[in-house]
Amino acid sequence: MTEYRSWFQCINEECGETYSLDQIVYRCTKCDNLLEVVHDIDRLKKRSPEEWRSLFDSRYRHRIWPYGSAVWGKKEWVCPYVEDENVVSMYEGATNLFWAERFGKQIGIEDLWIKMCGNSHTGSFKDLGMTVLVSVVKQMIADGRDIPAVACASTGDTSAALAAYCAAAGLESIVFLPKGKVSVAQLLQPISNGAIVLSLDTDFDGCMSMVQKICTEENIYLANSINSLRIEGQKTISIELCQQFNWEVPEWVIIPGGNLGNVSALGKGFKMMYELGLIDKLPRIVCAQAQNANPLYLSYQKNFEEYHPVKAQKTLASAIQIGDPVSINKAIKVLKEFDGIVEQASEQELSDAAAMVDRTGTFNCPHTGVALAVFLKLKERDFFKPSDKVIIISTAHGLKFIEFKIGYHNGSLENIAPKFPNMPIELPAELGAVKRAIFENLEKRANPV
Ligand SMILES: *Cc1c(COP(=O)(O)O)cnc(C)c1O
Ligand SMILES: [Zn+2]
Repeated sequence: MTEYRSWFQCINEECGETYSLDQIVYRCTKCDNLLEVVHDIDRLKKRSPEEWRSLFDSRYRHRIWPYGSAVWGKKEWVCPYVEDENVVSMYEGATNLFWAERFGKQIGIEDLWIKMCGNSHTGSFKDLGMTVLVSVVKQMIADGRDIPAVACASTGDTSAALAAYCAAAGLESIVFLPKGKVSVAQLLQPISNGAIVLSLDTDFDGCMSMVQKICTEENIYLANSINSLRIEGQKTISIELCQQFNWEVPEWVIIPGGNLGNVSALGKGFKMMYELGLIDKLPRIVCAQAQNANPLYLSYQKNFEEYHPVKAQKTLASAIQIGDPVSINKAIKVLKEFDGIVEQASEQELSDAAAMVDRTGTFNCPHTGVALAVFLKLKERDFFKPSDKVIIISTAHGLKFIEFKIGYHNGSLENIAPKFPNMPIELPAELGAVKRAIFENLEKRANPV
């Protein structure tokens, strides 16, 4: 047994009801508020900041299973309850922190970084949280509980992660997808991993309310980020960021937001490091929303005094096409604590931003495009000092969104006039024609109009 303790606790401070991690509970049964995982901080404080830093550093990408995973390398802070033998891990985290040197030079912020959270087992940051959730399920089953299946509603990436982790652990998974609203790759992932794939004639919010009903009425475990176990894994993004900078804190972190679990997790990680003395300041957090699905942005415009769900309109950033985000209260709390900003990006802006930065060596998904577009907007408005360290969180691999990428370059995306198209040049296989095409194009690039 571990000496470290954690439990679920109601985020409403006046309530504060607690539940053990092996209870199947997603909302407070007293006041219906969200729950969060709380750790025994006094126990964690028995190790000094220096000891924690060197423990985490010594495990980073190390071969001793499961501690080489950058989530499980921070197990005491994440989920000490799970025994090592029940951890379901596929080597999460430790993703590249890409120095966006060329892009940064183009726009005058040289300390600019893109955290490539999509370079992971299923191609999105969702793996970070899913490893924790599925491990807890495996632990509960090992302890004798009957859980026939794990289910989620998804805009694509959550279901890919759930299906893969369940398949690895030998558990049944059920995924609820809004029909026609996820990419082909995202649909194929749970299909290939053997999930029960339900394609419902509704949007994400409709799938979300359906899966919540099923999981409340039946003995099926809910894997959406309302389940705060996922947040514990995702909060390692901020810990890992600081670790990769030798425990230095950036001035800004920009992250795309849909259901708003990830922005909540980001804040939670920074706060925990601050509380335990590993860092001595906090960054400012920017949440980037698609203009077509912007309930948090609208609330921010009213100083968070009001919040109204919206009907999400179609957006190329399909993983954040969410009108009624589950983690709204957590996200607002984090943004207030981190002097946060919420900005939005139009379809044209997100598409061009993704393509522009692709030209400097990355391959951006549309959600990362939203964050990049928001970064450009705030830069335009002089929010950043030239010396600021700015991190943009890239949430998924661009290869999951091929329809978006090809549609951009061949000009077939509705209402988008691409600024940076690049199409293949079709030619006969003749030496002269090939040479002409090469040198004409090199010439054009050397002297752009
Ligand atoms: C899930 C997801 C998001 C949004 O994260 P939330 O926690 O729902 O705000 C952003 N980008 C991608 C690629 C995602 O899969
Ligand atoms: Zn409560």
